[in-house]
Amino acid sequence: MSNIQQDPNPYSIEYARKLDEQDELAPFRNEFYLSPDSIYMDGNSLGLLSKRAEQTLLEVLNAWKIQGIDGWTQGAHPWFYLSEKLAAMSAPLVGADAEEVIVTGSTTVNLHQLVATFYKPQGIRTKILADELNFPSDIYALQSQLKLYGYDPDEHLVRVASRDGRFLHEDDIIAAMTDEIALIVLPAVLYRSGQVLDMKRLTAEAHARGILIGFDGCHSVGSIPHQFSEWEVDFAFWCNYKYLNSGPGGTASLYVNRKHHGTSPGLAGWFGSRKDKQFDMEHQFHQAETAGAFQIGTPNILSMAPLLGSLELFAEATLEKLRQKSLHITRYMMDLIEHELSTFNFTIGNPLEDERRSGHVSLEHQDAARICKALKELQHIVPDFRAPNIIRLAPVPLYTSYSDVWETVQRLKTIMADKQYEKFANTRDVVA
Ligand SMILES: *Cc1c(COP(=O)(O)O)cnc(C)c1O
Repeated sequence: MSNIQQDPNPYSIEYARKLDEQDELAPFRNEFYLSPDSIYMDGNSLGLLSKRAEQTLLEVLNAWKIQGIDGWTQGAHPWFYLSEKLAAMSAPLVGADAEEVIVTGSTTVNLHQLVATFYKPQGIRTKILADELNFPSDIYALQSQLKLYGYDPDEHLVRVASRDGRFLHEDDIIAAMTDEIALIVLPAVLYRSGQVLDMKRLTAEAHARGILIGFDGCHSVGSIPHQFSEWEVDFAFWCNYKYLNSGPGGTASLYVNRKHHGTSPGLAGWFGSRKDKQFDMEHQFHQAETAGAFQIGTPNILSMAPLLGSLELFAEATLEKLRQKSLHITRYMMDLIEHELSTFNFTIGNPLEDERRSGHVSLEHQDAARICKALKELQHIVPDFRAPNIIRLAPVPLYTSYSDVWETVQRLKTIMADKQYEKFANTRDVVA
């Protein structure tokens, strides 16, 4: 059901402005560095810089400037405890206890760590279950982990097929949970279509068959709520530079359910030690009794610092309100697209039900690559292209206004009506 049909003129800029006036989260926009000359719709790929994130980065830099090595234990944010401090701040976003989360490494490295830890082929249970729509890096990591065991990934990596190239059916995934599967790794949200998988159901079904299961939260954390502990998800990992606005290359996160604390990390390193033991410098590894055990080496302190400020904003706005606005503003965008662009052959490629859709609108079009170029170069809208035919538009609830969404759809209409996209080749750029 559309939420804008009651107003006499729900497709007008006046209506968009009215929604902005009623938007409780609107003040958070002032916390961000928004370009005055363009509209940013790419927060699902790289979130924007906030003033708080800038401030905490400068504070950490200053500790280095003033205190040198003593920054490890002194200053506003002692570096030795920063991963744990950020974990406690992140835990509410994933429905976990502080000890079940750690901020460390990068997404793909964390996946390697978790697979190295939890993939234990035994008897006929030697296969890993994934899906054919997942992000390539995850698939490469799984393939290489299988090779380390001497398995042929073509045979041992089972990828659940999508029926339509957009979505996965939970029933199909469950049907693939055979007694040959040792481990399951799935996205929480599919990066193209934005489909939210039913993590609770999939976890229960995996466990009923004696299979461990973990989720990639890159496109879900900071966008939708999770209850990892309550659902008993075994592990998860995510980046912090998309919806969590921690900056390019920002340090990533992982979650390990407390029932697995004490399991030896597949890839051990001294930052996985108990804090009180780490500097004993013994060759006997005393692993932390928390998710901290899955850290490897010295954390990238400067790449973690912006997350401190950014997570403050999430605590203030609350995930509940962010999700509420996100659902509302993406619905608004879809309504406008249907009304304004109906003659231009776009297909909305994300799920339409609220429980199954996430923070971005996935627009499909055969000329998607060059429509994106026209959006950016001629109309000053920053979209996100995903090959072969997807325009992702993310009205991020912390800093996107309803007027931004209205403008975006109008400019998209201009590009289509005037065929402005024909000035560009329909191929992707190096970084898309
Ligand atoms: C963004 C993203 C990644 C990125 O991994 P990095 O190691 O941070 O480069 C991995 N998986 C998914 C699903 C993503 O969306």
